[in-house]
Amino acid sequence: MRVLRLLGVSASLGAVALLLAGVFCAPAHAKSDNARAQDGVVAKDARLAGDRERTRFIADLSKKVDVHVYPLGNPYRVIVDAADVSFQMPRGIGTKQRGLVTAFRYGLFAPGKSRIVLDVGGPFLIDKSFVLEPRDDQPARLVIDLVPTDEKTFQAKLNEAREARGGAVPLPPPQVPARPANAKPIVVLDPGHGGVDPGAKSTNGVLEKEVVLKFAKLLKEKLLATGRYEVHMTRDDDTFLPLKQRVAFAQEKAAGLFLSIHADYFPTEIDNKPHGATVYTLSEQASDEEARALAAKENFSDAIAGVELPEESDEVVANILIDLAQRETKNRSVLFARSIVGELAAKGTLHDRRMRSAGFRVLKAPDVPSVLLELGFLSNAHDEKQLTSEAWRNRMADSVTAAIDGYFKKRVARSPF
Ligand SMILES: [Zn+2]
Repeated sequence: MRVLRLLGVSASLGAVALLLAGVFCAPAHAKSDNARAQDGVVAKDARLAGDRERTRFIADLSKKVDVHVYPLGNPYRVIVDAADVSFQMPRGIGTKQRGLVTAFRYGLFAPGKSRIVLDVGGPFLIDKSFVLEPRDDQPARLVIDLVPTDEKTFQAKLNEAREARGGAVPLPPPQVPARPANAKPIVVLDPGHGGVDPGAKSTNGVLEKEVVLKFAKLLKEKLLATGRYEVHMTRDDDTFLPLKQRVAFAQEKAAGLFLSIHADYFPTEIDNKPHGATVYTLSEQASDEEARALAAKENFSDAIAGVELPEESDEVVANILIDLAQRETKNRSVLFARSIVGELAAKGTLHDRRMRSAGFRVLKAPDVPSVLLELGFLSNAHDEKQLTSEAWRNRMADSVTAAIDGYFKKRVARSPF
């Protein structure tokens, strides 16, 4: 019963529930999925049942698996973690609300660790969660029952569950390696989202996480081909990475430049839908409302993937900005942003408001010049076509390579802080 109590599951579950509690996982790598499916667990479908009084989430599995089910708050979520589950769910599921659950998603959270995240509309209790053995023609099933509760009870359960997990593990401060002065500048490319967090999605189902990964891989190739840079990627497959870890990665690598790559979605009914690339830098105050909204959306990535958000809020940006090193970092970030805009302006693929700023968490390394590039809008049919075209990808990667060249040609970019 220990596990049950840890998970905040009702103790009156009976024998079936005793079998529960494990970890559910699925790799989102397309390649390894088939191989894994041979002996691993496959999640084939999932659905919601019930109403606001009791909402049931059911996932069909190829066989039984251990899952770890727990609540998270702010926003309200249920997290289901497991190992070695590959998701082969029908595309497009999880977008419709039913009962207490407003949406759900799934994917790789970290290597060897898969995750399902249920978004819940208000305070709730995990009344039951268990995994059933396959029986007759029924597959193995993961079942989670949610019931509504008041905020106070929810918070109490949340604390219980957090204690059981040992609390959020703080990241160790990055160890920055010493490098010879004449070493090649290090560029860190950061394809946004990944795994359980798909990012934006076009109406045709094109996923931001896939578009940006493809682009980053090509850009890396082109940068390496110049022979002038050492290049690292925060992710090179369909794995999720929390924003803080992306920042820490750049610091650990002693990056001279950090480029986070995204593709925006801006739903609008107007004919002249926003299009083209936009370059963002970090700022305490957003340059405009759209930039603020976009930063909020991008910063939500951790919440989407079920990462427990730190208590610190956006005031941190304000504090960091006071720091002198950060001011220098900011100057260089703007310099690099201008370099990209300069290159892209010549190719005519820029958004009307090409250079903007807001409080992006992923740009917060105090000692690494950081820029976020939105390649284009998945909400714009023309952009979508470009974003998925190899010819366009090539041209765009050439432009960004030229922008990086342009930046590092400046003496200030190469001088120490
Ligand atoms: Zn994004």
